Amino acid sequence: MRPLTRRQILRGLGGLGAVLLAGCPGGTRTAPKDGRTQPRPTPAIDDGDGDTFANPAVCAATADNIEGPYFKPGAPHRATLFADKDPGERLSLGGTLRGLDCQPLAGEVEIWQADANGDYDMAGFRYRAALTLDASGSWHVDTVVPGRYFNVKRYRPAHIHAKVRAPGYRELTTQLYFEGDPYNDGDPFIDTSLIMPTRVVQGVRHAQFDFVLAA
Ligand code: FE
Repeated sequence: MRPLTRRQILRGLGGLGAVLLAGCPGGTRTAPKDGRTQPRPTPAIDDGDGDTFANPAVCAATADNIEGPYFKPGAPHRATLFADKDPGERLSLGGTLRGLDCQPLAGEVEIWQADANGDYDMAGFRYRAALTLDASGSWHVDTVVPGRYFNVKRYRPAHIHAKVRAPGYRELTTQLYFEGDPYNDGDPFIDTSLIMPTRVVQGVRHAQFDFVLAA
């Protein structure tokens, strides 16, 4: 029997090839079901000599946002911010701390926010928390969706303040916002890159945000 030519082999593989190609990276991407923002590695580069090399992944540094007048140092280390009888919609909020190369970082996340009525606790530490992150960079708090509060001429959209630190990186002070808040439009402080999509599962709102620090 004569050996098959390359063309014959390829023709024979036609159906299988189509299946394999459909499953290749770079084919149709499906959005993650939890709505989180995933860092996207940039595509491979063809340098002209026939082979390609992987372009290192690049994540954009998280935009900073004003600290505002309600920060208080010394927040307790804890992941649950609400008390059992507190009013408000429960919020499960978390993500990963990363560097510009998208790799997870150990560090700290400090959260402060208004309660469901739009009030900050300046006497104590309600709705304030400090988190210590291990090398997975993973962070998470169980809290409530903050209430809006009046600021000078208008209500500010619901937002959560954060300070984020990692050794060797610039400290980030920022705020996270919620997609669909009607007060997002026209807020003088908001940065649209800080708006999180949310979804409600069994009565709890979920949101995800990956902080990215610059060195
Ligand atoms: Fe605020």
